[in-house]
Amino acid sequence: MSYIFPPQPQPYLPIVGSDAKFSVHRIYCVGRNYAEHAIEMGHDPNKEPPFFFQKNPGNILLAKEFPFPSQTKDLHFEIELVVALKSGGTNIKAADAMKHVYGYAVGLDMTRRDLQNAQKKLGRPWEIGKAFEHSAPCTALYPAEKIGHPSKGAIWVDVNGERRQTGDLNQMIWDIPNQIAFLSELFELKAGDLIFTGTPAGVGSLKKGDKLHGHVDGVADLDVVVV
Ligand code: MN
Repeated sequence: MSYIFPPQPQPYLPIVGSDAKFSVHRIYCVGRNYAEHAIEMGHDPNKEPPFFFQKNPGNILLAKEFPFPSQTKDLHFEIELVVALKSGGTNIKAADAMKHVYGYAVGLDMTRRDLQNAQKKLGRPWEIGKAFEHSAPCTALYPAEKIGHPSKGAIWVDVNGERRQTGDLNQMIWDIPNQIAFLSELFELKAGDLIFTGTPAGVGSLKKGDKLHGHVDGVADLDVVVV
């Protein structure tokens, strides 16, 4: 068997302390998962079940330089804890969910907010706002066997040295076991899936030259420059 052209490279995350790589299958992202962020986006955090969108595996950016994307005047940052699955399935119970977690990373859900908002108003899908090239900057993975399973601790991002987003992992409306359980009722989760677990309040606009420094307690720090 041969392909008519070489397959695209397999997207992956490096693993801290290992030469092996984590091959990325899918990227799921939960929307409005911190109450104060839901409020800043104009929604009532108490009324909504979780909802998800996807980015493309090839949207992962491991380099420190994030190229400013085309067709936007309102590029937003969203700092997020990223969960990496080593196994999956369907109809996973929340009580069984954590055994599927390989480890964690810190990521940015980069968003062309003006395009996303226009799509929302028209009732259209979000891909052009969310799933564009390099829209998922991410650190290397930290295995849970080394760092445990963080369920509380600070999550924040500084832009040019100024604190912009800040929250605590314990403020997630839907915790990680429930995100996995909910997703597994809609999709067959697989080894290699990533889940971006939502962002705290304080999202805002970026311009070329901005320096982002993100952090999640007990996980990692992420540095990205907009170029
Ligand atoms: Mn997000």
